[in-house]
Amino acid sequence: MLLPPFCPNPKCQFHQYPEQGSHPQFWTLRGTYSTNVSGTVQRFKCSHCGEGFSERTVHIDYYTKKTIDYKEINRATGAAESVISIAKNLGCRPETISNRQDRLARNHIAMHARVLDTVILQEDVCADGFESFDKSQYYPNNINLVAGVESQFLYAFTHCTIRRKGKMTTFQKEKRDQLEKEYRPPKKALIKAFQQVVLSVIKLWYPEVKPVLTLKTDMHKSYPLALYELTELKEKLENKTFQHEVFSSKIARNLFNKLFPVNYWDRELRKDIAAYHRESTCFVRNVSNGLSRLVLYQNWHNYCKLHRVNRSKKEFRTHAIMAGIDELVINRELNRVYTDRAFLSQQKLTDEQTKIWLKLHVTPGKKRKNYVPSFAKAS
Ligand SMILES: [Zn+2]
Repeated sequence: MLLPPFCPNPKCQFHQYPEQGSHPQFWTLRGTYSTNVSGTVQRFKCSHCGEGFSERTVHIDYYTKKTIDYKEINRATGAAESVISIAKNLGCRPETISNRQDRLARNHIAMHARVLDTVILQEDVCADGFESFDKSQYYPNNINLVAGVESQFLYAFTHCTIRRKGKMTTFQKEKRDQLEKEYRPPKKALIKAFQQVVLSVIKLWYPEVKPVLTLKTDMHKSYPLALYELTELKEKLENKTFQHEVFSSKIARNLFNKLFPVNYWDRELRKDIAAYHRESTCFVRNVSNGLSRLVLYQNWHNYCKLHRVNRSKKEFRTHAIMAGIDELVINRELNRVYTDRAFLSQQKLTDEQTKIWLKLHVTPGKKRKNYVPSFAKAS
């Protein structure tokens, strides 16, 4: 029997996850019920708030009618397998895989937020915009990435849809104008998304630990504008404790390139995520679903994939360990990410993480809101 570590009622004093030790016993047993999917399930009642719940309420598979291997979904998503391919291999419908990817994404967002809550930035960072598209090439996007210079740990990313640019035929220009009557990307979206991603990393910087923080980017003209608009950075830019270094993106993309961490991420995303392959039939059809899959990849890469190391010396360290993150914290979180249900009411998330959790990113041309089950929205 799985004993509940907290009460699922967001208003109860025993709702928050006990980070150390456990809550005093707040529940009493209230019989069992039988299910086809997981056999006999224990019921509980909270002695404090009176809420009734069961083992399944605090399990990642709450409300599911079929048990599917979450680790396999995570592995396949990060190995360039499409949703349809994963569904065929696991013997279920593509919608079921999307549902499980959403559940895993919420758990991974919660895990990453809880881990970052313990992080004190120890390295400089590198930022760049990964360019792809959603739904059609008339809706290009920019995924702003911030990675550690030493660790290649991906601290944060934000997504924005931008206006199609570059060379177009007359037909393409007319079609773009036609489509823009239905949907036009928000103005200054790239600047705002870049500011958001920088701010989420600045939160981890403590000048008393690391007196000078350097952000390395390419020579995109939006970046200096975005940084100088941030009141949080104004004083730090003036006294040069926060430095912005720019490098040409035309320099050879090798290990010695100052933008190596983001060039590396660009390559990894392009080859490891099916929807980002160039010139293929796989592409993102729903922005929120695409970002859920990106969250799965981010966490697998950060916390499970080995950093490039000299393997002859048997130095097997992940990107998170290279970023100086406590291994005990990582293991504690990895032990629950495939089993426990993450509650929105227990998390301290950035705006972008909340948008991905609640599937609030708009897919151009899609009028209906994304479906999010009410239990995932409870806060
Ligand atoms: Zn309670």
